[in-house]
This record gives sequence, C-alpha cells and structure tokens, in this order.
Amino acid sequence: AEPERLSKVLAAAGVASRRGSEDIIFAGRVKVNGKVCTLPQTPVDPLKDIIFLNGRSLPKKPVLKFYFALNKPKGYICSNAAEGSKPVLSLFEDYWKIWSQRNPGMQRPRLFTVGRLDVATSGLLLVTNDGDFAQKVSHPSYGLTKEYVVTVTEKVSKRQVQLIAQGTKVQGVQCVPTLVELLDAAEPGDARHRIRIEVCEGRNHEVRQLVANAGLEVQGLKRVRIGGLRLSRKLATGKYEVLTETQVNKVM
Ligand code: URA
Repeated sequence: AEPERLSKVLAAAGVASRRGSEDIIFAGRVKVNGKVCTLPQTPVDPLKDIIFLNGRSLPKKPVLKFYFALNKPKGYICSNAAEGSKPVLSLFEDYWKIWSQRNPGMQRPRLFTVGRLDVATSGLLLVTNDGDFAQKVSHPSYGLTKEYVVTVTEKVSKRQVQLIAQGTKVQGVQCVPTLVELLDAAEPGDARHRIRIEVCEGRNHEVRQLVANAGLEVQGLKRVRIGGLRLSRKLATGKYEVLTETQVNKVM
C-alpha cells in the first residue's frame, strides 16, 4: 500500500479527528516500530508498520460509524481534560449504557467532537467517531458556513451591524462574516437583542471577537447550523439525536 501520514492513519482507525490525532502524536503517545514518533507527517504503511497507541496496537478500523447532533448546554467543554469541568461527551453516558447492554463484549467507539464550541457557547455540535468526516467538516478549505445567534446586552445600531460585517483579525487572520443580520427584538419588555452571524473560518472565539469589535457585550452565543444541517427545534438543550444518513449527507 501507499504510505500515508501517521496522523491520517490514526484518524482512519477512529482514534480521534486528524487534528486530535496530531495532538496525541505530539504528546509522545504513539510508537512506530518500537520508537516514539512525534511527527504527525511521518509516512507509514498501515499494513507493514507496527503502530502502538498508549502501548497498545491500534484498534482495527471501526466497522460502525456513529454520528450525533448534540444541543450543547453552556458550561460544558469540548475537550476531555481539566478536572472539575464537564465534558460534552459525558452527556452520552446513557446512550453507551444501553448500547453496551445490547452489544455485549463489543468495544465502545471513541467519540470526539467535530470542531469545538467555547464553554459558554450552546447549540449544535456534531459528535462522531469518523475522523475523515470530522476533518472535512472542520477544514477551512471546504468553506462550510456555520450560523450563530448572538444575544447582546444592548440595543444594536446600524453602525454596529456594519462593524461586525466588516470583520476583524482573529489569530492574525482577517475574518469577515458571510452574513450579519439583526433579528427582531425579543419579546416586549425583554431587553435582549439578537444578531444572526454566519462565518466560514471557524477560528477560536471568532464570533465573540467580531461582536466585541463592534463594542457589544455578548450575553449568549448559540450555534444553530453547520453547513446544511440545522439544529432541530425538537432537540432540547443537553439532548442529542442519532443522525440519519440523510442528515449526515446534508452537512456538506
Ligand atoms: N465563535 C465563538 O466565538 N465561539 C464559539 O464557541 C464558536 C464560534
């Protein structure tokens, strides 16, 4: 077989997303032919080279691919680390309990999130064990748009909408939203104001920075769409749904 990048081979084995696999490699958790390898781009032959993760051979390619849409609550984090924090994956415990009862002896797949949402952000988050899918959906070259609804503390002026639409530098890269729209004022008597913002880069804290750049304070941030998949109104906060093949294909 053609040699492939080590990070790609790990992702294809369902270990993590490609980005996540790179981090695992950088952390020195992967051995190739008995030697620790910290370079994700190392060419390997998945059939000939002996690849170990955490001292164990790589899981065989997962036969089953899982795709979930989660309505992420505020206060949950997309990574596993940090003691005392609540990882989004803990919201799937009930699913795996039933799954393990129905599939005795089968190893539970390793899930990860497709991209990340800030701890204070809520809304649509995809969770899967399909590294290639995760890679494609989050890679900027595919230009998938993501739609957010931002709640701010003050009334928004036309000038502020313009400022958001102009974009701002995030991590040194100019990010310009693909759509900015002021939504109807919330209920009468409700002082909150909402803006719809669509972006395609997906840099860290991008939407928050766009809004801060217009001098507005973010009270709430919710992702409502990724590519062609909208957060279902029926999905309560903290709940997930198993995506159908049609829904998966809608994403991109
Ligand atoms: N932009 C942000 O600022 N935060 C998120 O969680 C997602 C996009």
